[in-house]
Amino acid sequence: MSYRKDGTPFRMQWTIRQYPAHGTAKYYIAIQRDITVLRDVEQQRQQLQVLADIYTRAGTAGLDLQGLRNQVAQIGLAVTGADGAAVEEAVAGEMVYTAAAGTAASSLGLRLPVAGSLSGACYRDRQPMYCRDAHNDPRVAREAADRVGFRSGLLVPLIHENRCFGVLKVYSAQVSAFSDSDLDMLTVASRVLASSLYDAQSFEQERGQRTQLIDALPILIARIDAQLYFREINAGYTAWFQRPAAQIIGKPALDIIGLEMFEQVLPYMKAALAGEEVIFEHHLQQTDGVMIPVEITYIPHLDDQQVVGFYALARDITDRRRAERDHLTQTLNRRGFDARLDIAFATAKRYHRPLSLIFVDLDYFKKVNDDHGHAIGDEVLRTAAQVLCEQVRESDIVSRWGGEEFVILAPETPLAEAVQLSERLRQKLASCQHPEAGQVTASFGVAELANEQSERDFINHADQALYAAKGAGRNRVECYSG
Ligand code: GH3
Ligand code: MG
Ligand code: MG
Repeated sequence: MSYRKDGTPFRMQWTIRQYPAHGTAKYYIAIQRDITVLRDVEQQRQQLQVLADIYTRAGTAGLDLQGLRNQVAQIGLAVTGADGAAVEEAVAGEMVYTAAAGTAASSLGLRLPVAGSLSGACYRDRQPMYCRDAHNDPRVAREAADRVGFRSGLLVPLIHENRCFGVLKVYSAQVSAFSDSDLDMLTVASRVLASSLYDAQSFEQERGQRTQLIDALPILIARIDAQLYFREINAGYTAWFQRPAAQIIGKPALDIIGLEMFEQVLPYMKAALAGEEVIFEHHLQQTDGVMIPVEITYIPHLDDQQVVGFYALARDITDRRRAERDHLTQTLNRRGFDARLDIAFATAKRYHRPLSLIFVDLDYFKKVNDDHGHAIGDEVLRTAAQVLCEQVRESDIVSRWGGEEFVILAPETPLAEAVQLSERLRQKLASCQHPEAGQVTASFGVAELANEQSERDFINHADQALYAAKGAGRNRVECYSG
């Protein structure tokens, strides 16, 4: 590098030949040529090439931030012809070597205070810094510089969106080893890296906030893959199973939830893997053995339109269950019944499955109260509810409709079977001898859901059948027949 009178640098090529060409030299011929323009063209070409290279690598590196850091350090080294190159990022008041190449490689992971180093100054001032000679530069920590062979160095800040992440640094064992075009190159590289660091940091922040939110939710959330292995869980999960996440993630669902539950939920899992969102109620055993009612939702996890697994959400519905129960009989109340009727109704319609409804009304119940008092009446109601619950299938839903009237919802049950069930229930109730009240019979009205029928008509039909049973003398079963 030479300098013109006005101080601008230029590149001079010297060609020196001896005369004569062979034997003892009489004199030398020196030809000087200003090759600044040539060099510039060559460098611009190289710059464009490197720029394209970095952008492609940043793109392909995706969120492999470390890969990108390493590449940027390598490129910095290669392009400037430096002996060492490093990415230093500011972390909690220190400059940390997050990537290093060439003679700097051994410094990887090194932490130095921001104050008192050239890198720290570059980071703090957000300005490129050029140290032409470490031996004559008060900003440089001489001992540390000598240790890594830093004689001259070029540093650029890593800035994106007004946020400074650290510096990209190259250095050489020679004095004044870097040029303006080296600075340009490093600046380009620093921008690519800074924007990726910015993206990664924003992503991490967002992810952190999301994780915090998900962990704070009072529900269990898990991501399960298509092979039914746990892939991700929230804090609710680890708390419930009282196991660290590492003992759940990567394990088959079967191992975590146990064979019994696994077999029960498998059909729902299969539906979710077939792309369907499913909601159902189940129970989960706490570590103390207590069963807790939960509502489970499976939401298909789509990747590029393909189902690659599903999200499983489980929510404690103890409170809801309590609000849906009738205090006296412990069967569902109207509210609980209505919710289940909605689901059963929709399912039956959608899959064209049979669904029956049975109204049960105790006969001459007013007289029980009148003759024996309200407390005895209550006792009779409790016993009747117990008998009904014991006799039906687990999938049948018994609820107190109001007063001394009950309703039973029987999924997957056509009219004839519902009539049979009602007859059995009628006999059971009639065979009960209450200590004080003696025999208390009941009347039954049965209806099966017909095509295109509304929920209200469905209920009305069963009610009409009950009315018919009462009219026909009580203690009998009638079904709605159009
Ligand atoms: P029918 O055979 O026509 O059904 O006559 P019924 O006497 O059973 O019918 P009615 O509707 O006239 O009387 C129902 C009675 O049920 C009146 C009400 O006091 C009583 N009842 C409703 N809820 C309760 C309850 O929670 N506890 C008690 N002990 N009685 C109740
Ligand atoms: Mg009655
Ligand atoms: Mg009644």
